[in-house]
Amino acid sequence: MRYAPPKGTYDILPPAPGRSAVQDSEKWQWLEATFRDLCRLHGYAEIRTPIFESHELIHRSVGEGTDIVAKETFDFETKGGDSLTLRPEGTAGVMRAYVTNRLYIERPVGKLFYIGPNFRYERPQKGRYRQHHQAGAELLGAAGPEADAEVIALACAFYVRLGLRDMKVKLNTVGTPESRAAYVVALRAWAEPLLPQMSADNRRRYEQNALRMLDSKEPQDLELLSSAPVLSDYLDEASQAHFAAVKSYLEAMGLAYDEDPRLVRGFDYYTHTVFEIQSTVLGDKALGGGGRYNGLIEAVGGPSTPGIGFGLGLERVLLALEETGAALPEAVGLDAFLCPLGEAARAACVPLLATLRRSQIACDMDYTGRRMKVMLEQADQCGARFAVILGDDELAQGVATVRDMATKTQQSVALEALATCLSKISG
Ligand code: AMP
Repeated sequence: MRYAPPKGTYDILPPAPGRSAVQDSEKWQWLEATFRDLCRLHGYAEIRTPIFESHELIHRSVGEGTDIVAKETFDFETKGGDSLTLRPEGTAGVMRAYVTNRLYIERPVGKLFYIGPNFRYERPQKGRYRQHHQAGAELLGAAGPEADAEVIALACAFYVRLGLRDMKVKLNTVGTPESRAAYVVALRAWAEPLLPQMSADNRRRYEQNALRMLDSKEPQDLELLSSAPVLSDYLDEASQAHFAAVKSYLEAMGLAYDEDPRLVRGFDYYTHTVFEIQSTVLGDKALGGGGRYNGLIEAVGGPSTPGIGFGLGLERVLLALEETGAALPEAVGLDAFLCPLGEAARAACVPLLATLRRSQIACDMDYTGRRMKVMLEQADQCGARFAVILGDDELAQGVATVRDMATKTQQSVALEALATCLSKISG
């Protein structure tokens, strides 16, 4: 019996010629290391939370009428009868952990980052999976626009450092819950006579959570929505001032953005600033996005604490980097591959490997007793800089033949000097 991976999932594998970046584990390590390094640079510490949380936490914080909760969550019941949901995004769990562990007591401003998988029951296609990964950051306890600007700058710095050339930042504000409520009244009044022309999804959204009508990607809805009222006309003065300050900070940092008055993003918890990062090569799919969520911590049982954060899709940035022809880092190969000829040489290689590794030389050996030609091919495949050849003659003399795989030149090196010699020549 052969098993396929579950629909909408894929395996991340060791690098190999022709393998896409999305399936190459070394590219993932590079992405993750880049994000970790940038987070450290900006003063963020890592948080790791469970990949499942209570059904209620996810459904209530993301919002009942959102597409994610209405259609995409993986909900299940444990044998003990608990209702759980695989996390579809990172923020709700991080907020729950912030409250559970009372992190607000440790520091007045909490800066947290995470990297991990999320689960959404979506129709799989390129750039859309049922298990995808996000790198995210959350800045908690700071209500001022400086925090918004920092968080947006951190997200942008990630793409710039990865070498993505065609990134665009879309920016909007959704104001306070009060201004949004006034807007939703107007939006519903506008939509009511148009309902027969709208998609079934938008008719459902109209009933359940009218703001979410703006999330529709259906052409028939998009055309109608182009004449819908815009949220910016319903903002109070404080919201407008906050947004103006965020924009001026972005300008002061030299960060380009496009204002998009129709951007609302698919979560209910946002207040004030929302942003999305796009790449032209991904069509209508966003690379990442985020926003402010001043009521969320309180809604999950914590003290009233402002917050802002983002989640960046890691599959999509790899796809975009590949599409734009950015130079991705090459796999790092071994320093040495040991090629023993015969039983005695193979036995001698076992302690030799251990000695080399203690000297920080990345090495491996042939375990299968293959022919020299095949062992050298294998050395090449693992990207080894040197093949260390050990046969009966070498053993008798206490030496090994060190072959430079690039120049194909060989030299004889005493076994006890091998570690020092390889460290020197491999730099
Ligand atoms: P969201 O949490 O919906 O704002 O998504 C943040 C980012 O995660 C998106 O911009 C995408 O890059 C990525 N993302 C969301 N859903 C998926 C998915 N089903 N497959 C792959 N990437 C996704």
